[in-house]
Amino acid sequence: MDHILVIDDSRAQAEYLKSILVKDYDVTTCQSGEEGLNLAKSGQFSLIFLDIIMPDIDGFTLLRRLQETMMTKYIPVILITGLSDVQHEERGLTLGAVDYITKPFSPITVRARANTHIKLFRYQMHFMKQAMVDQLTGIANRRRYKEYSITKWREAGRLGLPFSVCIFDIDKFKLYNDTFGHPAGDKVIAAVAKTASSYLQRATDFLARYGGEEFVAIVVGMEADAAFHYFQKIRKAVEELHIPHNSPVSQWVTISIGGVTLVPQNDDVYDNYLKIADNMLYEAKEKGRNRVVWSNGTEQVGGN
Ligand SMILES: [Mg+2]
Repeated sequence: MDHILVIDDSRAQAEYLKSILVKDYDVTTCQSGEEGLNLAKSGQFSLIFLDIIMPDIDGFTLLRRLQETMMTKYIPVILITGLSDVQHEERGLTLGAVDYITKPFSPITVRARANTHIKLFRYQMHFMKQAMVDQLTGIANRRRYKEYSITKWREAGRLGLPFSVCIFDIDKFKLYNDTFGHPAGDKVIAAVAKTASSYLQRATDFLARYGGEEFVAIVVGMEADAAFHYFQKIRKAVEELHIPHNSPVSQWVTISIGGVTLVPQNDDVYDNYLKIADNMLYEAKEKGRNRVVWSNGTEQVGGN
């Protein structure tokens, strides 16, 4: 059941709205803007009813803050306005509210608006998710990676945390496809994605399909040594899937990984990090594949 948040300083009005909606939705009410903002950040709501006139934060300010916050920016907001509030309505809609309801409410109108905007919200979430997910593997796609990498890289720089990025790919994948066919190749790509994501389970771990048989992963807060060993486990786990390949590298499907760990500095350029990771991947291939080669920015810390 979808969850609706009602933010209104009048408890009676909030409870009345709740009574109209509670048959079809889970409804949470609160009486202050500050509390409403905190509740909204929980990420569980599909719709917010927001009163414009409130003593602590007025509805417009709250609307702007909801839109500036990552967790809440896509939640549709319906404003609650008084009969004589034409200017308020206009301002609210300009600021990005999806709709408004006018006191005194007609239950039918309230329900109809809630149904419409929740349906639209579901569609929007579905398409946004689809646009960020790789269809074959179910992990993030390159578009999502591009957003995520820059955000996390800047964040790591701000907090002075080590930031790791690595690129890895399936060894002799063209040969695999030529031998076993593309459908089998697709299954291997999906199996590698599944294995890698089963290891990348910390909240800040990130894995995306970069293209073809190539993946990119990001890990924040781990020193170069630890990151190297973290990805060694993934390399080993893929080998131990024991998917037959019989390439010059191994009888099994294997991966090569190139990575780098650095604390982002002010004048650094993210793409240079990726370039180092790419060079490490090249080294891994030069050294015979099925291995992890890792750099701390100045020297290799692992990869034999
Ligand atoms: Mg009020």
